[in-house]
Amino acid sequence: MITAKARAVDGPDKPFRAAEIKRRDLDSHDVLIEIKYAGICHSDIHTAHGEWGEVNYPLVPGHEIAGIVTDVGPHVTKYKVGDRVGVGCMVDSCSECENCRKGEEQYCLNGMVPTYDGVDKYGEPTQGGYSTHIVVTEDFVVRIPDNIPLDAAAPLLCAGITTYSPLNHWVAGPGKKVAVVGMGGLGHLAVKIAHAMGAEVTVLSQSLRKKEDGLEFGAKDYYTTSDPETFNKLAGTFDLIINTVSAQIDINAYFSLLTLDGTLVNVGAPAEPLSVNVFSLIPHRRSFAGSMIGGIRETQEMLDFCAKHNIVPKIEVISADQIDEAYERVLASDVKYRFVIDISTM
Ligand SMILES: [Zn+2]
Ligand SMILES: [Zn+2]
Repeated sequence: MITAKARAVDGPDKPFRAAEIKRRDLDSHDVLIEIKYAGICHSDIHTAHGEWGEVNYPLVPGHEIAGIVTDVGPHVTKYKVGDRVGVGCMVDSCSECENCRKGEEQYCLNGMVPTYDGVDKYGEPTQGGYSTHIVVTEDFVVRIPDNIPLDAAAPLLCAGITTYSPLNHWVAGPGKKVAVVGMGGLGHLAVKIAHAMGAEVTVLSQSLRKKEDGLEFGAKDYYTTSDPETFNKLAGTFDLIINTVSAQIDINAYFSLLTLDGTLVNVGAPAEPLSVNVFSLIPHRRSFAGSMIGGIRETQEMLDFCAKHNIVPKIEVISADQIDEAYERVLASDVKYRFVIDISTM
């Protein structure tokens, strides 16, 4: 067993505390990673606070992991000691079902193993990246290109792939008009990626507070959704809308912004059901879809794409003692645009 230092929570209302956790000894295809940075994703907060159902406390969140390989199992072929690597939202899947064989492990029909608050094939609870070390089978490890700094790479492992995958699947590119709803951790990356793919990008945000940033990230236009005139002006405009907001919004108003055959994809996950008026979909053959992270192959493709186009998230690096404070600031939308924990402060 390998002992790792970590930060854990003991319950929905509890603060983070220093903890020690065990990582398994390396199996034949396992990689030991010394974690350098871990991003703070909104899902970490929902899970830590027990908002998404039963949680197995104590919990070590974190599924935006960037680090260095420090040891490998005897049959590892993809990585060697010293490699710069990342781990995202899942650490294993059945590898045999139809979806896994297609490289869409996130949709594993037998259930993928989440990086934290899951149970691995050894029957042990999984613990995430707010820790100094993690052991992961090599098939669920990705390579971080040399020109992406490790701190900035971390958020790409969840926020990056969550937005890249639908943009890729629904073919954002030249000639396409893409709207991004929300300019947070996910939204700001969606803007950068869609712009690099060649699409014309518009941001739809609650306020114009981050307009300058949005335009700098590559958006052509930036509108506030608090002005009803925005919805009149942009009616029937977009081929693709990526909704990163997990709060309740009037989804039908957003459907009205889609052009013929346009698709609105939710990557934000509101806790309560949305009320869909089918008459806002029927008239222009519009679609309403969902998308969850991406497969391992696509995650590597996303990292290589970001390296090629010099895309990195805008981050604020914090120490391990600032996690509680960072959570509060995320909930107050006071982050530009992703917190990343410097694991060396643990
Ligand atoms: Zn996440
Ligand atoms: Zn599977």
